Amino acid sequence: MRHDAHGWWIGEAGPPPPQPPLDGRVEADVVVVGGGYLGLWTAWHVLARARGARVVVLEADRCGFGPSGRNGGFVNGLWDKVGKVAARAGDDAALALARAADESVHAIGAWCTAQEVDAWYRPAPHLLVSAAPAQDGSLSEEVAAARRLGGAGRLSELTPEEVAARCRSPLMRGGAMLHTAATVQPARLAFGLRARLLGRGVRIHEHSRVRRLEGGDPVIAHTDSGAVLARAAVVAVNHAAVGLRPFRRALSVASSHIVLTEPVPDVLEAAGWTGGEAISDLRTMLHYFRTTRDGRIAFGWGGGRMAFGARRHPTTDVDPRVVERTAHDLRAFFPALEGRAITHAWGGPIDVSPVRLPIFRSLGRVHAGFGFTGNGVGPAELGGRILSALALDERDPVTRLAIVEPAAKRFPPEPLRYAGGALIRRAMVERDDRLQRGEPVPVAVELVASLPRRMGLNLPR
Ligand SMILES: Cc1cc2nc3c(=O)[nH]c(=O)nc-3n(C[C@H](O)[C@H](O)[C@H](O)COP(=O)(O)OP(=O)(O)OC[C@H]3O[C@@H](n4cnc5c(N)ncnc54)[C@H](O)[C@@H]3O)c2cc1C
Repeated sequence: MRHDAHGWWIGEAGPPPPQPPLDGRVEADVVVVGGGYLGLWTAWHVLARARGARVVVLEADRCGFGPSGRNGGFVNGLWDKVGKVAARAGDDAALALARAADESVHAIGAWCTAQEVDAWYRPAPHLLVSAAPAQDGSLSEEVAAARRLGGAGRLSELTPEEVAARCRSPLMRGGAMLHTAATVQPARLAFGLRARLLGRGVRIHEHSRVRRLEGGDPVIAHTDSGAVLARAAVVAVNHAAVGLRPFRRALSVASSHIVLTEPVPDVLEAAGWTGGEAISDLRTMLHYFRTTRDGRIAFGWGGGRMAFGARRHPTTDVDPRVVERTAHDLRAFFPALEGRAITHAWGGPIDVSPVRLPIFRSLGRVHAGFGFTGNGVGPAELGGRILSALALDERDPVTRLAIVEPAAKRFPPEPLRYAGGALIRRAMVERDDRLQRGEPVPVAVELVASLPRRMGLNLPR
């Protein structure tokens, strides 16, 4: 098995040659910091709103080498969170958000077609499946909320037979289906976006880490070898936002890992899993899995370790212990994989927001988005619409969504966040495992695992 810090997808897509680092002083209308999906979609939508705008993207490494190029490729809306949003922000706000997020799922497909970018976009429902009696009915409230808001056709319950008709596994039971969903080859989408932006005259500088951002008029983004002076700046740096003082307690950083099998078309055929559905279970630290165009299974688990503040530990990208566990869990879902090779494994940081929804905030002329909590492929397109409007000072229905300037919920400061978070994550994993095996959960474990909920934080399911 190849432990690959950059993920198999990037190698398959074949990374493009790098763009030169920023050199000297440059003027722009909008400077975008970060060349993942959020930064790239923002640049795209700035041009869509203001033809001829001068946009500069500054990327510390290579565009798409972060989680945007090596995620699971699930493109989802937010209907499975609609009940929680309604409870906090009201029915109208929840409905507006769910609709806007669904638009992104369609928009990404339409963009790939119009721009002739072969990102393997494949519309197919996302199944949210119970894999243990304790997970049964976990989504009932969200399904009921969706129905109440008129979204019965967007999120609906599935019987065990309906799940099995799409994919058979000895662990999978009933669940729910997100109807508006798709999968992509994530790196192909990121590199495709980058290429089309370059084609439209956007200046992209790679290996250009922004060291300092001055938020005056103009905003000035400084790198080691230059500076961009702009009317507005967009900060789209994912988990690295936790290193910026105003957002320090708005995020916590964990990691998620993926293992990839060799092509196993016979296994997929035998499981009846040929419709391209993305599937996740209903654990707190969820498993998520999908097929690829060449007949592999990509199988992820969100149980990786916490990171301390903005510090990146190598285990955030590849943690052999988590990889081994993820591979073990994959075989429990699909025992027919016994003896079949796992060819690649990798991981990456997850920017966990206190309410599991992305957050968009403005500080004067600096606008930022973060907190996708492992669900950023679809919502980053929506984020690009939001941040482009904010950067151009335009009023737009998307800038009134409940994820723009939401009421602040905060994580505890370091070292409490790291120490407490690590303890809570361990308890959540143990709780998940015991429930999976049908064993009782010790009171102390239950107490620690339920701490975030009791603190008003809505951490991973
Ligand atoms: C293993 C894994 C699986 C996942 N699976 C899914 C999935 O199936 N579906 C889904 O919806 N989501 C998934 N996600 C989450 C999804 O990948 C992210 O939410 C999404 O890619 C976030 O995009 P982004 O642009 O905010 O961040 P990124 O892709 O991280 O881009 C941010 C960029 O900013 C750059 N940067 C950071 N600091 C600076 C600086 N100072 N100056 C300049 N540049 C800087 C970084 O180098 C990086 O390229 C997964 C994540 C992981 C790790």
